[in-house]
Parts: sequence; structure tokens; C-alpha cells
Amino acid sequence: MTAENTSIDTLVVGAGQAGVAMSEHLSRQGVPHLVLERGRIAERWRSGRWDSLVANGPAWHDRFPGLEFDDLDPDAFPSKERVADYFVDYATKFNAPIRTGVEVRQVMRAPGRPGFIVDTSDGVIEANRVVVATGAFQRPLIPPIVSKDAPLTQIHSADYRNPGQLPEGAVLVVGAGSSGVQIADELQRSGRNVYLSVGPHDRPPRAYRNRDYCWWLGVLGEWDKEVATPGREHVTIAVSGARGGQTVDFRALANQGITLVGLTKSFERGVMHFEADLASNLARGDDNYLALLDAADAYIVSNGLDLPEEPGARKVLPDPECVTRPLLELDLREAGVTSIIWATGYTADYSWLKVNAFAPNGKPQHQRGVSTEPGIYFLGLPWLSRRGSSFIWGVWHDARHIADHIAIQRKYLSYRDASQRHSDKSPTTEGDGAGAGAGGAHPGAKHLVGVTG
Ligand SMILES: Cc1cc2nc3c(=O)[nH]c(=O)nc-3n(C[C@H](O)[C@H](O)[C@H](O)COP(=O)(O)OP(=O)(O)OC[C@H]3O[C@@H](n4cnc5c(N)ncnc54)[C@H](O)[C@@H]3O)c2cc1C
Repeated sequence: MTAENTSIDTLVVGAGQAGVAMSEHLSRQGVPHLVLERGRIAERWRSGRWDSLVANGPAWHDRFPGLEFDDLDPDAFPSKERVADYFVDYATKFNAPIRTGVEVRQVMRAPGRPGFIVDTSDGVIEANRVVVATGAFQRPLIPPIVSKDAPLTQIHSADYRNPGQLPEGAVLVVGAGSSGVQIADELQRSGRNVYLSVGPHDRPPRAYRNRDYCWWLGVLGEWDKEVATPGREHVTIAVSGARGGQTVDFRALANQGITLVGLTKSFERGVMHFEADLASNLARGDDNYLALLDAADAYIVSNGLDLPEEPGARKVLPDPECVTRPLLELDLREAGVTSIIWATGYTADYSWLKVNAFAPNGKPQHQRGVSTEPGIYFLGLPWLSRRGSSFIWGVWHDARHIADHIAIQRKYLSYRDASQRHSDKSPTTEGDGAGAGAGGAHPGAKHLVGVTG
């Protein structure tokens, strides 16, 4: 792209897994498109995650259909760098038109004509359609509990890299989803004294009766669920592929030396206060865990599968003291806590998207990614079409639906009535009209297709 105005049929913003999947499906449909990525391909897997992170799902599962991790055991958990490399390889495989190092700063509807004006760090581009593939995990979210001026190191899990990055002393990890649990475990194993604040969570077994939980969620139809169980839409999932992949067991973490506490509530005069909900949060996690074992057992019986019994999986460890006599407050200085890691999730940032595609609460308004503003699409959001939507394998299927929708729209727009068809045939008319009609390039703008990153 040059500083002069250019145009493209479909612009995809972001080249994480969502943008790469989108590009593959648009290519298959023959839709001229361009992907703009402000960093590198799969940037968040490279620089937005801690050093030791491995994928939560095994190599056979956490991938797109068209390429395997052929250097890995299918049951292994790829490192975050390997995952990022995978998406680079994938994009290279079909020569995805990705331009890296270009940030999209604003998207607005073109006045009085179809399409959008897109302001980027490398000039202005016009697009008939924009697919927002900027991810569900964009802006780290830290609840306003501890003032930034408090004499503590406070970072979000997105900025955590390794134990050596933190000052000497104990650490409070707030949030016990996949990130918080793995970070707390790593810190404790590195010799730190660790407190882990545990809220409501789901806790699937890593594997049961010789099948990974990803397999169970697949065959039991859980990944395909279209609506979250009411009240559990935002419940975090505690699962880990670390050290070969083991079930997250909070009681085992406590036996290992981590002090579990309930939900972090408030901070006053150096003292952190916790809700008295630790035991009930663990109990709900146990219910979720046992429900999956029950569903798996029933599936095995009804399908006559020959998978080994695993009675040990139902044994629940006794509650450790931090659960039976939970800490409701902690004087951080007395406890030697010098750092807090907020593993408290993310929010989205659409401030650059000046279009009519949002509900009054600021959330994208869409049906399976097709937004209320014609020509604007969202991809990669949790529950976009189903539970799997924000995960590697799920986003690929959602991208296919959006590409189909775009192809259908292009077909309508390429329609020519009799008089247009007649003038298309006129010797004075240049080209066959289909490209400009379907692609809808703004007159006078320069076409830009098939640019490789
Ligand atoms: C810690 C963690 C671990 C995870 N582990 C797994 C796992 O093991 N398996 C799994 O299936 N899922 C996992 N996920 C969930 C999900 O797969 C990842 O978050 C994944 O990165 C989402 O991909 P995405 O393409 O939707 O978004 P992202 O990877 O966030 O990609 C969006 C891209 O858009 C770019 N971008 C943003 N704004 C702009 C702009 N204005 N202009 C240009 N470019 C822009 C960003 O630089 C980024 O590269 C994990 C999530 C987290 C947070």
C-alpha cells in the first residue's frame, strides 16, 4: 500500500488466527481482499503471552483443518512460539495477502456511496467490506481495587513473562482461569510464596478414560453449543497444557504450597479483603468436573466404546486448611507480598470503528459475525456462533460462514439490469464491469489485490 488512496473489496483487520482463517476462506471464494496487521502475524501469541505458555489444546486439536503440526506428537501441547509459527506457515501456504506493520486507526462509512474509508498508519484505503478480526482479548482488564500508587508491583497476566521479572517476595495472583492458575503454579515452583484468588470457574478434566477433554467437548457437542448456560456466560475455564497437560486441581495446588483465597473484594490500608466464597467456588468447579465425567461415561456406554475405566478420576482430595479456614483478609506487607498479578481477563477496544454495529452497551451487534451495519463483520469473539468461536479450531468455521455471506452479497451487487448489460457490451465501455461491480471499487481509486505480506 502506498500513501495514495487505494481500494479493495474486503479489508480484514488483524492477522491473528481469525484474520488468517478469514483470508483463506475469502481466497477460496475468489474475493479480492487485504489483511492489515499492526504487528506480525499471530503477534499476540508471540508478544502477548508469558514465556512458558503452551497451547491449552493438543496439537491434533488446536489447529486448522488444512495443516498439521507435523513436527510434533499429535498429543503434545505446542509452545506459544510454535503456535505463532504455525499461523505464519499457514498464511504462507496459500499466499495470504497480509500486510504487516500497518495499523488501522479508523473505519468510517464512506459519505453518500457504498463502502468504508479506512485510515491506516500507511495511508487511506477504501473497502466495500471490513472484517474486524482484532481478537476478543485486546485490552487487559484490571478491576479498580488497588490504587496504581500503592507500593506494589502490579501487572496484568498479559504483561507477565516469567518469575524473574518480579521483585523478590510473595505474589498474589488474582483470577484462577487458565492464565492465573498456570502463572501461580509457575511462580510457586520457582520458590515464591503464592496466594491465588479463586472465583467461579469451570474445571474440565485434562483427560478422562484415555481421551483429552477437547475430544470429550467435541463428541458431547459442547464446543458446538450455541448459547452459554444462563448465568455462566463469563465463567472462566481452568485448564492447562503445562508440563504435558494435567487436570487443574485446586486442592493439589494448595497441597503443593499455594494459599488459596476467595474472590478479591477490596483493598484498604494495606489489607486485601476476600469474599468468603472459596469453598463454594471450588464446589461448583467440582460439579462441573464431575458432570463431564458422568457425560463421558454415559457416552461410552451408549456408543459401546472400549475405553479403560478410570475410577481414580472421581477421587476428590480432602479440603486443605486454606479452604476449611479461609483467609478473609491479608495484610500484604506482613505477608511479604510485593507483587500482584491480575489474571482478570480482557476487554475489547472498538474506539477506531465509527460504524453502526454496536448495541447501546457498546458490544458488537451481530448474527454469527454479520453485523447490523451492512458490510461490517466480526470474527473471533466468544460465542460468535458457538462455544468454540474464540478458539483456534472454532474461528476457522466461523470465517467460512462470513466468507459465504460476503460471496453472496457480491453476487447480488454484480447483478446488471438489461440496460446495464447492454451498455457493458458497448464498444466504448472498458472492461466487463463485473470486477468493478462485484468488487465495487470506488471510481478513481487504485485497485489493490493479492499483496503478500
Ligand atoms: C493466555 C491465552 C492463552 C490462550 N490459549 C489458547 C489455546 O491454547 N487454544 C486456543 O484455541 N485458544 C487459546 N486462546 C484463545 C484465542 O485462541 C487466542 O486469544 C487467539 O490469540 C485469538 O486469536 P484472534 O485472531 O481472534 O485474535 P488475536 O490473536 O488477538 O489477533 C488479533 C490481531 O489483530 C491485530 N490488531 C488489533 N488491532 C489492530 C488494528 N487496529 N490494526 C491492525 N491490526 C490490529 C493484533 O496485533 C493481533 O495480531 C488463548 C487466549 C489467551 C489470552
